Amino acid sequence: MSRILFFVLLALAVYLVWRLLQKKQLPPDAVNPNVPRLAMVSCATCGLHVPRDEALMQDERFFCCEEHRRAVPPTRD
Ligand SMILES: [Zn+2]
Repeated sequence: MSRILFFVLLALAVYLVWRLLQKKQLPPDAVNPNVPRLAMVSCATCGLHVPRDEALMQDERFFCCEEHRRAVPPTRD
């Protein structure tokens, strides 16, 4: 009789582990690992690295702040 109980508990344990693995296999959040959310760019004036989202852009150059953006005159073609 104890052998049956052993197999019942074993099946239960396997089931619980299987459910745990199923939960872990859920798709991750909407974060795409191929596209870095915080790509770093360097300031054209001082070289400071800032997140692209926070950098100021002018003439395809990035700046860490408005002051440094104004420090470099815009290029004229
Ligand atoms: Zn700067």
